[in-house]
Amino acid sequence: MFKYTLDNKRYHTLNYYYKKKYGRKTFKVSLNGGFSCPNKEKTGHGCIFCSRLGSGDFAGDSNKDLLIQFNEVKNIMEKKWPNSYYIGYFQANTNTYAPLNVLKEKYETILNIPNVIGLNIGTRSDAITNDCYDYLEELNKRTDLIIELGLQSIHDKTLKFINRGHDLNNFEKAVKELQKRNIKVVVHIINGLPNETKEDMVETVKYLNNLNIDGIKIHMLHILKDTNLEEYYKKHQFHILTKEEYIDIVCEQLEYLKPEIVIHRITGDPNKEDLIEPSWLLKKFCVLNDIDKEMKKRNIYQGDKITN
Ligand code: SF4
Repeated sequence: MFKYTLDNKRYHTLNYYYKKKYGRKTFKVSLNGGFSCPNKEKTGHGCIFCSRLGSGDFAGDSNKDLLIQFNEVKNIMEKKWPNSYYIGYFQANTNTYAPLNVLKEKYETILNIPNVIGLNIGTRSDAITNDCYDYLEELNKRTDLIIELGLQSIHDKTLKFINRGHDLNNFEKAVKELQKRNIKVVVHIINGLPNETKEDMVETVKYLNNLNIDGIKIHMLHILKDTNLEEYYKKHQFHILTKEEYIDIVCEQLEYLKPEIVIHRITGDPNKEDLIEPSWLLKKFCVLNDIDKEMKKRNIYQGDKITN
């Protein structure tokens, strides 16, 4: 059986990572810290697919105090799984984009809650100042810190097309700055971006594998209402990956990732009301099951195609 799973998966699950590390149920609580995003401020609309909520559709309500957001989730979980551990996940927008005193105040508020054992902070590679790097280094010594960096694709032509606002070089520098400080890095990528081939998407994963990242979130591109991507789609009707195409690409990508890299996410989870395409993404468990079935059919495991 594959080593990094507790439920017969053929890839390294987040559940396995938490259970092995903490020995008990651990939940990530998505939070909206009320941050903005430099890319939206610079261009007025940000990344082509960015939703109203700054790609934090399941983060908390920014009108609510952080403690209230956190406790609303914790109170529900606590009833079913008492004594669980929690990780505060600063998800919406760019969560290092504020003066250092503001960052400290928000992060420490969550860290002071009993049973919180870590923070995941979602951000952009061009939005971490030197002071912030130093603070993160110190934070990393006293909690389980993960920085989640959006990249989406390693191909600069795609980054330009999606209006990412930074290039691959900028991303790589940030990863190295974080790794220099022993901070764990999880990277977000998107499959199905316009004009990308399967080979392009697999190349993205091969590159990340060589960068020694700690984890990855693989998303399927989804078109949400009121985004620039919706307008583009209406005009150009570009090809949206079918579920079968997506699963085929994911299976191959997993083979090029070292087994130690944790798969934090392997499908999207869009808001039903806002979703335009693809509707198959709404059946999340069906997608997850079909990935399992396909890996079994091919008899493949994460890391199979790594030669060294
Ligand atoms: S970095 Fe995130 S929040 Fe900012 S524009 Fe892009 S998707 Fe939106």
